[in-house]
Amino acid sequence: MFLLSVNLRWQFNNLQALHLSSFREKNSCLINSLIISINQLGKITSDQMKNHFDFIIVGAGVLGTFHAYHAAKFGKKVLLVEKDQYPTQATVRNFGQVVPSGMGGDWFHYGVKGIEQYNQIQQKFDISIRNNGSVYIASDPDEQQLIHELKAVMDLRGYTAQLLTTHQCVEKWPALKSSYCKEALFFPQEVSAEPEKMIFRLLEYIQINFQNLTYRPATTIIDCVVSGNLVRVVSNQKEEFKADKVIVCNGGEFKLLFPDLFRQSGIVTSKLQMLRSIPMPETKLEGNVLTGLTIRRYESFQECPSYKNIKTPDHLAELKKWGIHILFKKAVDGSIIIGDSHEYADVNHTDDLGFSQNEYINRLMLDEAQRIVNFDVSQIATAWSGFYPQHNEKDIVEIDIEDKIHIRTAIGGKGMTTSAGYAEVSIKKLI
Ligand SMILES: Cc1cc2nc3c(=O)[nH]c(=O)nc-3n(C[C@H](O)[C@H](O)[C@H](O)COP(=O)(O)OP(=O)(O)OC[C@H]3O[C@@H](n4cnc5c(N)ncnc54)[C@H](O)[C@@H]3O)c2cc1C
Repeated sequence: MFLLSVNLRWQFNNLQALHLSSFREKNSCLINSLIISINQLGKITSDQMKNHFDFIIVGAGVLGTFHAYHAAKFGKKVLLVEKDQYPTQATVRNFGQVVPSGMGGDWFHYGVKGIEQYNQIQQKFDISIRNNGSVYIASDPDEQQLIHELKAVMDLRGYTAQLLTTHQCVEKWPALKSSYCKEALFFPQEVSAEPEKMIFRLLEYIQINFQNLTYRPATTIIDCVVSGNLVRVVSNQKEEFKADKVIVCNGGEFKLLFPDLFRQSGIVTSKLQMLRSIPMPETKLEGNVLTGLTIRRYESFQECPSYKNIKTPDHLAELKKWGIHILFKKAVDGSIIIGDSHEYADVNHTDDLGFSQNEYINRLMLDEAQRIVNFDVSQIATAWSGFYPQHNEKDIVEIDIEDKIHIRTAIGGKGMTTSAGYAEVSIKKLI
């Protein structure tokens, strides 16, 4: 198309150079249509340039947005597309705990990198990152054993971890009950984000800072196919975009793109119940507060030598059955987020999880929370359900189609911690 346009321009210039006024008179129709063709071709060519990107990222949750951020940082021309008016899924429904200390394998390192990146951005632009650390409260000898073993692992890695006595804990977090808190492991370097703020500020930040990045909310991608050397992407408004590579960070949306592929992917969706107290600014419970059932659940503890011998005591059996572990996160307004539980459905039966809250699960969570803290946990202002996809045998689902379309989803319950670090490595592999 470009060559044709150049060729027509050349012909037109030559015609002009001939100064054949009689020719002009006789052939004014031909000249006019040539001018129109040249203008049209010019427009098509510039539209094509406008709609052609190095990378198109589908989905502006935390995983997609950090892919867009890193690609733009590498100087690539990027289009980030979000189907909703603004992200409304897992990325805004979570605790906002950034806890590499809870991650296993490579994901610990992605989390550490993630903290570095959150802090770097926060220094320039407020994306709601606060450094109040993370603490794991052990309530019995088994949990104490696991925090000691994790401390030894972290010491070897050079990752600061401090064991705290009951006295030190209740002094630092007076909202904790000394009857529950036998000992704790504290990571002072860890941070948290405000989930209902972080992604919106990050989207603002990348739009202000990268001229080479375009963000398009309220744009649903309904088709994505390899076409020659490029990928052709079509929106619900029938707009067409092209890219050298497309990265699909679709979170838990499996019906729009590649439904057949996802149907056989082995992905499982998890539904979590979450509660938020009324603002309690006087309650001292800063940072990411994780408790005994979390120690019995998180991957970093699963890698500890004693983990396989740890039995579930009877009083925790019902909680474990509903995938409950108790975490607290005090928000900036003084409200305290309390959660969570886990119910599962395979990717073909996600709708069966429903959207309502199971009151029995909330009661179990609040009773356990009340065993841990001394403020009245029944003063709940809001409750919601969050959903995330995961894979039982993979830490994340990565599917590559003809080395041009790259699906990255099912990061599970660790996306707020690890997306920034993971996305950097992921983009480096693709450029
Ligand atoms: C209740 C709860 C608590 C959690 N707590 C924590 C925590 O404390 N710490 C932590 O590290 N992690 C936590 N997580 C996990 C974390 O929230 C997720 O891992 C992370 O948000 C996943 O991000 P994502 O971008 O993959 O998915 P999403 O947030 O689901 O984003 C995907 C986006 O893609 C868009 N999309 C999908 N298809 C299309 C399409 N065809 N066209 C355009 N757009 C499309 C969707 O609209 C959506 O906005 C929690 C999760 C939940 C639910």
